[in-house]
Amino acid sequence: MKYSIYELDAVDIAHLVNRRELSAVEVCRIFLERAYDAQDNAFITLNYDGALAASEQVDAEVRNGARELTLAGVPVSVKDNICTAGVRTTCASRMLCDFVPKYDATAWKLLSSAGAVLIGKTNMDEFAVGYDGGTSYFGAVENPLDRNRVPGGSSSGSAASLAAGTSLISLGSDTGGSARVPASFCGITSLKPTWGAISRYGLVGMAPSLEQICPMGRNLRDVAAAFRVIAGRDERDMTSGTVEHFRVPADAELSGLRVGVFLSDVAAEYTVRIIENCLDLLCNAGATAVPVNLPHPDECVGVYYIISSAEASSNLARYDGVRYGCSDGSVRQSRSKGFGSHLRERLAEGAYAIMSNGGHDFAHALEIRAQITEKMTELFRGVDIILTPACDTVAPRRGTDPTAGELYAVYANLTGIPSVVTCGGEGEDGLPVGVQLMGRRGEEELVFRAAGVIERHIPRKAVFVERRDEDGV
Ligand code: GLN
Repeated sequence: MKYSIYELDAVDIAHLVNRRELSAVEVCRIFLERAYDAQDNAFITLNYDGALAASEQVDAEVRNGARELTLAGVPVSVKDNICTAGVRTTCASRMLCDFVPKYDATAWKLLSSAGAVLIGKTNMDEFAVGYDGGTSYFGAVENPLDRNRVPGGSSSGSAASLAAGTSLISLGSDTGGSARVPASFCGITSLKPTWGAISRYGLVGMAPSLEQICPMGRNLRDVAAAFRVIAGRDERDMTSGTVEHFRVPADAELSGLRVGVFLSDVAAEYTVRIIENCLDLLCNAGATAVPVNLPHPDECVGVYYIISSAEASSNLARYDGVRYGCSDGSVRQSRSKGFGSHLRERLAEGAYAIMSNGGHDFAHALEIRAQITEKMTELFRGVDIILTPACDTVAPRRGTDPTAGELYAVYANLTGIPSVVTCGGEGEDGLPVGVQLMGRRGEEELVFRAAGVIERHIPRKAVFVERRDEDGV
């Protein structure tokens, strides 16, 4: 049978490669070519030679029949703040524009041992600080669904690449929505896992107490497959593997599942309709709806900004042109030339937040964070899952305020719980609207099951620009 390669999930590609019905080299060539042709600035570096060599090796391993590779020949992209041995890792900053790591981040190493092939490194907001993919030293990322709109950030290139079909799984990172907001704006699926579920070894950190490496994909099936490959204990990151993972039987029903629902007052009318529809889908599958209020809605974004900026300012202090980063004479010169203006402002705000009011503001933010965590734990005694929009609107036009998703996103980062964003339906101009499902710590599998019900009924929004006949295999 002849089918287009772009209709296949990552998991299907791995299956065909393992059965030798498709060659990893062939898949790699098609995706590299598409990535080269794409005009969306999703990639900073394409890994031509490395990808071809890796896919040849996958084909050889399959021929030897030593073992089944879970992600055999799957074209993967990796955000450019995740280290890849021998492939430049810039954090989209002039500061690291020549940095070539000698080692792999654990998450990428695990994907590659499972047969995944690195197509390239994706563009992002500089050092993962930003919301719209516009602060990169390498230029702004475009949203492949509508070039006048932002793709969301900071994992902008990862989401754009998935939406454009130039990779099938991507690794992003999320400190305050950076993998989930772009998922919503580009019509793809992202998981922000429980804090500690995935090793952060090799992630160039922005704000470590909030962030995680995130599997992103065109659908939940692929995201879940990638998560299962990369989750777990890594002796190089002592915060990893501290999560007890809750298993859900594959045939588990949703009957009895209590779904809390939350919406802000400013959600667009189409977003409200989409949440109602997703709730109906869950209730038809046996769940019951419980309206909830998320704690401290007026303070949580401010608290997030104080903590994330403070952590970023101390974490990025090492880039002084002496120990790390490009040098331009003095430390001051190196930092003012190496970092872009948006990042410099955030770092200054962070330094101020630590010192202001004798350190009281920062301490107060930590106190509210603890209260939010306590109240969310309490909330999860009455519900099993919380459903919210990912953002209030579809992707905004470039130049307008792109912060629409922060209220919903930051809860999962402040409290360390898992959260999936997947497409819930279409809003203005037929553009995707993401919905978010949050669960208790370690309950990713339950979140996948609930999100799976929604995904089965909602057509994927990701478009595969210029589907070409010659790519049929
Ligand atoms: N917009 C958020 C920020 O700039 C997101 C950052 C992130 O998740 N990495 O802090």
